[in-house]
Amino acid sequence: MRSDLPTAKPSLAAQVNAVFADGGPLAGALEGFEPRPGQREFAEAVANTLEAGGTLVAEAGTGIGKTLAYLVPAVLSGQRVLISTGTRNLQDQVFYKDVPTVGRALNIEVNAAYMKGRTNYLCRHRFDRLQEAAAGLPASDRRWLAHIGAWLEATDTGDRSEIEDLPDHLPLWSDVTATSEQCLGRDCPRYADCFVTRMRDRAAEAQIVIVNHHLLCADASVRRGAFGEVIPESELVIIDEAHQLEDVVTQYFGVAVTTHRLDEFCRDAAAATGALSAREAMDARDAFGASGAHGNSPINDPRFVDAVSDAVSDVERAGRRFFAALRLESGPSDRATMSPEIAVRVREPGLDVTAAIDSLVGRLTSRAELPADLTSALQRARALRDDLVRLLSPDDDRYVHFIEIRGRGVALRASPIEVADIIRDSVLAGRRATVLTSATLAVDGSFDYAARRLGADGARTLRVPSEFDFRTQAILFLPDEMPDPRTPEFNRAVAWIVSDLLDRTRGRAFVLFTSHAAMREVFAVVERRVTWPLFVQGSAPRTALLRDFRATPNAVLFATSSFWQGVDVAGEALSAVIIDRLPFASPGDPLVAARINALRTKGRDPFQEYQVPFATLTLLQGLGRLIRTRADRGLLAILDPRLTTKGYGRRFLGSLPPAPITSDVEAVERFLA
Ligand code: SF4
Repeated sequence: MRSDLPTAKPSLAAQVNAVFADGGPLAGALEGFEPRPGQREFAEAVANTLEAGGTLVAEAGTGIGKTLAYLVPAVLSGQRVLISTGTRNLQDQVFYKDVPTVGRALNIEVNAAYMKGRTNYLCRHRFDRLQEAAAGLPASDRRWLAHIGAWLEATDTGDRSEIEDLPDHLPLWSDVTATSEQCLGRDCPRYADCFVTRMRDRAAEAQIVIVNHHLLCADASVRRGAFGEVIPESELVIIDEAHQLEDVVTQYFGVAVTTHRLDEFCRDAAAATGALSAREAMDARDAFGASGAHGNSPINDPRFVDAVSDAVSDVERAGRRFFAALRLESGPSDRATMSPEIAVRVREPGLDVTAAIDSLVGRLTSRAELPADLTSALQRARALRDDLVRLLSPDDDRYVHFIEIRGRGVALRASPIEVADIIRDSVLAGRRATVLTSATLAVDGSFDYAARRLGADGARTLRVPSEFDFRTQAILFLPDEMPDPRTPEFNRAVAWIVSDLLDRTRGRAFVLFTSHAAMREVFAVVERRVTWPLFVQGSAPRTALLRDFRATPNAVLFATSSFWQGVDVAGEALSAVIIDRLPFASPGDPLVAARINALRTKGRDPFQEYQVPFATLTLLQGLGRLIRTRADRGLLAILDPRLTTKGYGRRFLGSLPPAPITSDVEAVERFLA
């Protein structure tokens, strides 16, 4: 053999393998590191995909150390890799914890950027505008404005998470941020020192760009818009928590006219009009330059200002009537399909809104030149009108049109029924390599459902089982002789069994429901029967509930769908997850009904191909709350008899972790003793 031949560079997979090896660099950088075969296998598969291209759909079971497994090949690839997570918690973990760990292990400084949605960053322009109008604000808003102003002096990022005591839902914050609709882009006087621009510039320089699905989809949906695109191009993408992608795509690739959108538009348009004061006149004249256009400027014409203000008020009034009509039509449900009959009835108040917007547009365009804020209002008015016209004529059968009520908010929406093509063509288009991963993607060992719905048919697949030993760490309780879940006796039976189980687990449980009504009914009974501290969803904000649950010994939390995912309570505080029913999506929901119908129209079986796999993955997410470390032990209880009495129950059982099964509450007590 000739010794002067250049040595071939080891493949990415080989380099990655060495990092995860026993006594390798990761072991040196991470205290308590234990080599895990599953982690190595997944890391190697990611490396092969990033190097050779194509799509990998991988279920990486709990406890394998999934994020490090994809970060190491991503960093070692030397190319820009986009990483998208479903939740902010995971995004934080990847950026603040895992990236530095990989950097230490590889002894390099990883050039990573963290990108959040626009409304996390202060908009200097809107802040300036609000400050000018501060005298008219309530005292509490003025105090917050001063507080934000003091922070603004020192911040480099403009990211709200730096302001520790800022309440989660402070209404004022949305007045000092800019959605892509509100942003003036290059016409903005603060463009040069804009925080969103800076974030985008930082990301453009970074090798690892960490986003979340909301930003990924928002970006993909406005890619053709002028200032919408913020995420830099990347041929390599890793989508974690991929089971959440379909929902987020549905949200961002639909059309919606909401009370919030119309209110914000009217508020911004009114503010932009109101700002045409003597001082604004000076600003605007400067903006027009010395073109001599001042004489014709709208600023010098009070009739123009009055006419625009009146038109904005007309839009506001017509909007209120329209949304009141929608609320009436929605009846008692939160979401109601827009039937042809409803469409006819809401058409007239809807057309009143479009007419009012037309009139506003007419007034704004009566002048050749407008300041940037009013130009932006004009564009938004046109977009709002176009969307409303589309929503009032529900004739595109690729979309389901429905009314949605959320507290005081009302929305008219059109959502795409099938999103696989959208994911493929808009979110993943142009990528050389894509990794779609999550702890739950396979149903009864098959990836058909996940791959089909994520637009990844034909992708390579990999299933890495959990690192946890469910045979010894968990027990699965399936009660005998439960009533049919469709009968009123069922909730009563659930309440009795939950009370019994809680006494044996000494509280320390999540009791998860598929509906608020069932949760309330069962809670009312259990509350009288047990002495453990109980918390119930709706009695306090989600973060406060979780904080109190963690801080209270032997606590029990009763909750519905929003707690089925992404909640982490390690250790003894959570020793049982009890689930009342198999979490089938409600067939009465407009989107679910439309998806069922679309499959049926194609001659497919929606129950087996959509409803069962969907419910299975939701169930696995709920159960996944229980065992978070190798030291955790606990009870999984599913009280729905269909798991054992129906044929499809086998598919659920085949997907569950391999914990021993019992129907004996004494066995549960012995296991937890
Ligand atoms: S460019 Fe957009 S986000 Fe930035 S300061 Fe201006 S309006 Fe605000």
